Amino acid sequence: MARVYNFSAGPSMLPESVLAKAAAEMMDYQGSGQSVMEMSHRSKVYQGIFDETEALLREVMEIPDNYKVLFLQGGASTQFEMIPMNLMTGSGKADYVVTGQFSKKAYKEAKRFGEVNLVASSEDKTFSYIPKLDPATFTPDADYFYICMNNTIFGTVYHDLPETGDVPLVADASSCILSRPIDVSKFGILYAGAQKNMAPAGVTVVIIREDLIGKNDNLATMQNYVTHAENGSMYNTPPCYSIYMMKLVLEWIKNEVGGLDKMLERNEKKAGILYDYLDNSKLFKNPVAKEDRSLMNVPFVTGDADLDAKFVKEAAAAGFVNIKGHRSVGGMRASIYNAMPIEGVEKLVAFMKKFEEENG
Ligand SMILES: *Cc1c(COP(=O)(O)O)cnc(C)c1O
Repeated sequence: MARVYNFSAGPSMLPESVLAKAAAEMMDYQGSGQSVMEMSHRSKVYQGIFDETEALLREVMEIPDNYKVLFLQGGASTQFEMIPMNLMTGSGKADYVVTGQFSKKAYKEAKRFGEVNLVASSEDKTFSYIPKLDPATFTPDADYFYICMNNTIFGTVYHDLPETGDVPLVADASSCILSRPIDVSKFGILYAGAQKNMAPAGVTVVIIREDLIGKNDNLATMQNYVTHAENGSMYNTPPCYSIYMMKLVLEWIKNEVGGLDKMLERNEKKAGILYDYLDNSKLFKNPVAKEDRSLMNVPFVTGDADLDAKFVKEAAAAGFVNIKGHRSVGGMRASIYNAMPIEGVEKLVAFMKKFEEENG
């Protein structure tokens, strides 16, 4: 069977060469006589895979030495609670900007643990923009300031980060990590679930400045960043295979793509093809503020729900799958993460043009 172009928001496509390598190593990982799925996480061969994954992530993202990299489970969603539990221990206050469903969930979760200031929200216009922030509304003694960098469902991204001074900036980068260079030193915590741009589901990467670890002694073991930092993310069994897949993805970025600068170039070119067409189309439009557009998630609508449904159906039949938009936005959404090849977007645009001619 031919492979489809998968525009899913997550889990999403993986590079074909990564899948081929994983398949080739499936029965016998580098002469070990085992699959990576079967290995003890305490074995020397698996520790080698794990260490290499962390080293590659540090190299590719240029993570400074005063940050720990943790490989955790529970998805990005578990960080919605771990962040306030671990960090809201000074003033007990935190600032949140709500720009979509995931930051709204994180905001609600934080309210269980302290005093939360809603700095701004773009819910008034279905999260179709990133609010302009007024530093006068920030809490000067907040324990941290929280944002969701790329809004997966709504297709917006922060092109400029809030200036939070000494207050640590915490960001959910689940749907934009590895899509471009990010200056990690600007963040207290930068975290991401793997299943958008890094690996299959199962592992969540938490990049945390060392001084933010150990601020709450009163936590259950698995909820405390200290446990994971002190045990090299192996207090318990880590999601071994997802971490191995992340290693292959990082090797792909480093060796085949040529690093994150090149990844960004590629992603800009790819998204540009789709946005250019949308800006000139008389049928489809992108409902997002132009200056806040995401390179990873591109929603588009015709304005007619029946026509949207017809498009989604015909697109799937033509091999462009998972292109239906989230129910809160309607219409369509093309998630074009790192692994989506440029020709996938070129072919989608050709298909959209044809649909426009037939239905416009
Ligand atoms: C997908 C996603 C999440 C949720 O991730 P889970 O791993 O399913 O918990 C959170 N934040 C963002 C930005 C996402 O894209």
